[in-house]
Amino acid sequence: MKGRPEYDAVVVGGGPAGSTAACLLGESGHSVALLERRAYPRNKVCGGCLSQKTVRFLDRAFSLPVAALRREGLLDFAGTGYALYIGSRRILAEDLDEPVYFTGRERYDAFLAKMAARAGAEVHTGAEAAEIDHARRTVTTSDGDRYSARVIIGADGVHSRVRRTLPQSVVDRKRWHNNLGWTLELVIPRREAEALVNQDGPIRLDNGLATPHLALGACRWGYGWVFPNREAIIVGIGGLLSVNRNGLRRELEAFLKSVGLSAFADRKPAGYLLPLGNCIPSPAHGETVLVGDAGGFTGPLLGEGIFYAHRTAELAAHAADRHLTAGAPLAATYTALLRRRLIPELRAETALRNFVYRCLDARMHAPLAAFMRATNTLVIDAVQGTRSFRGFFRDDDLHSGVW
Ligand SMILES: Cc1cc2nc3c(=O)[nH]c(=O)nc-3n(C[C@H](O)[C@H](O)[C@H](O)COP(=O)(O)OP(=O)(O)OC[C@H]3O[C@@H](n4cnc5c(N)ncnc54)[C@H](O)[C@@H]3O)c2cc1C
Repeated sequence: MKGRPEYDAVVVGGGPAGSTAACLLGESGHSVALLERRAYPRNKVCGGCLSQKTVRFLDRAFSLPVAALRREGLLDFAGTGYALYIGSRRILAEDLDEPVYFTGRERYDAFLAKMAARAGAEVHTGAEAAEIDHARRTVTTSDGDRYSARVIIGADGVHSRVRRTLPQSVVDRKRWHNNLGWTLELVIPRREAEALVNQDGPIRLDNGLATPHLALGACRWGYGWVFPNREAIIVGIGGLLSVNRNGLRRELEAFLKSVGLSAFADRKPAGYLLPLGNCIPSPAHGETVLVGDAGGFTGPLLGEGIFYAHRTAELAAHAADRHLTAGAPLAATYTALLRRRLIPELRAETALRNFVYRCLDARMHAPLAAFMRATNTLVIDAVQGTRSFRGFFRDDDLHSGVW
């Protein structure tokens, strides 16, 4: 077994969470190894939607304003409006004050990993973490390379091996499974979608296929989406796995039909798990912490995860820096930051999610529609990050810097 020199931090997984943590720790002068099992560019099943809170994060944390993101080719498409349905009934169709953007994860993730390398992190691709010894703080890859570090950051996504090797006391496995989501997604080349879209279903897509569409209740405790991108139209459906074990494929076919894309119903979708409200409140053990999907951090209403991957990685990197430079206890520092800056927000979003889907279960469509219309701008502001889900007040806990 080949031993690697001791690093300050080993980050397992090179998605948005891992690259953010590696980049911020590298910028602070720490020695970092980022282990990614695949090679860039690599895809990740994702709608690629970047809300304003993500865009704001990239500007604040990496000095990448929208103009720079465009220059780097990371913003493929801007959605300037949206349409919201309950089932197949249109509830809202409005312009957005600020757009949501759509990216391609191949380029987005490769760019972030390059940024981490520029900040001094060693990026090792083709390096799959196979064994993690939390007590000795070592990570051994499937090729037998052993990395030792003072800190381990688990950023290895929803199937996280780092998480699965933590003790039962850290991860409440029942709660994890109860709030795990299951998704199916189809990427349809734009030209084909434009040629074959029809107006036969109850949901009429706009002419230019430029408007993001969301349909709550397209499956149980979940929704369907049509996201426009430059070269493709991304159609997906996702909801809690516990109530959608069977039949999601049929529901995707029905959704494709309802949005006029039945021509693509026989294409094979990609399936992927998604945390949907199962964040681990104290995702830390000794000198190991979990960030992003590995710790269950996505917005429970819509499953938006890119922002939470960045933000949890920022909080974890800060806690790791305090630990490495001043001896602050890693687990306690990270957990305190999450409790102050993120978890209350996710709890409030979970309460809204529960309200919405309980109304749908009870077939209270009309009162739910009235509620959605009444609170619409507030919810949009919360998704975009200009308000908090907690009482819809303006609140900066989600955004303020910690360094
Ligand atoms: C269908 C679908 C649609 C979505 N749409 C959106 C959206 O529009 N907007 C949004 O914000 N979020 C969306 N999400 C959520 C978003 O994709 C995730 O929350 C986000 O990718 C989490 O980032 P991450 O870095 O934590 O994990 P990931 O992006 O999953 O990255 C984990 C990385 O770890 C690597 N890895 C895994 N295991 C190992 C190992 N053992 N050793 C080394 N490397 C390893 C993987 O190869 C991967 O590169 C969607 C998710 C799904 C499933």
